[in-house]
Amino acid sequence: MRIEIDEHSGFCFGVTSAISKAEEILQSRPLYCLGDIVHNGEEIKRLAERGLVTINYDQMAEFQGVDVLFRAHGEPPSTYDLAKKNNIHVVDATCPVVLHLQKQIKDIYVQHPQSQILIFGKRGHAEVVGLQGQTNNNAIVIEQEEDLKIIDFERDIFLFSQTTMSVEKFEHLVQCIEQKIAPNATFHYFNTICKSVANRMQQLQNFAKNHDMIIFVGGKKSSNAKELFGLCKKMNDCSFFIANEEEITDEMQQIIQQKEQIGICGATSTPLWLMEKCKNKIENYGLSN
Ligand code: SF4
Repeated sequence: MRIEIDEHSGFCFGVTSAISKAEEILQSRPLYCLGDIVHNGEEIKRLAERGLVTINYDQMAEFQGVDVLFRAHGEPPSTYDLAKKNNIHVVDATCPVVLHLQKQIKDIYVQHPQSQILIFGKRGHAEVVGLQGQTNNNAIVIEQEEDLKIIDFERDIFLFSQTTMSVEKFEHLVQCIEQKIAPNATFHYFNTICKSVANRMQQLQNFAKNHDMIIFVGGKKSSNAKELFGLCKKMNDCSFFIANEEEITDEMQQIIQQKEQIGICGATSTPLWLMEKCKNKIENYGLSN
């Protein structure tokens, strides 16, 4: 049996940089993080042991003069206003890709106030909240084709995407809007899906196809993990989604023992050390049985 960890899985540069920033500051002083620094419970646990304290918006409103890290997903302008009001020092770990997207949306909103700005993404997701904030929350979130029912196709439309969505689904949405838009209205779309996510989708599909069984390691709260696991499952029916090595059940181990090529992969929020732990558990099971 051969067990291989996907070389393209693991933290993207945005998450890597946010975690490095946190680790560097924690060496000298306490640090709060607004929301989970990464959608991976195991990594949060590891950083909490080093002193990172995760807080929510209500808690931040109560603090004065502390250091608060804004994670890679970014924040709406109202969060920066709150920080300023409370004399909070912001450690801004917003990913440059997200920052650029926020600016693009804000510019369009300012230049085309009569248009409809659509964001293809998950309603309530932190990144989407940050993007909507660039438009005074006037942007409309579209999760799927059915949500287009509320759009006025007689008015101009600008479509953006949350960075971690599927390219395929985005393109489908573009086609739907192109079919519905009125001749007197214009439709502009921007594929703002992060390249590191888009490339990973293709690489992951190949990885899933080339293995007999896939163990996908990811946080259950991560939208990127759900999306990527969906792709694995589509390419390889023998795919399992686990949060950590403890979720590798005896039943899964039995299936593993009958396979030759086992692939371990994960999301942009899955740490390499966690995938390695899963690999070790499988190898040790093989040795002790
Ligand atoms: S997935 Fe892309 S946009 Fe999102 S944090 Fe990672 S590098 Fe940045």
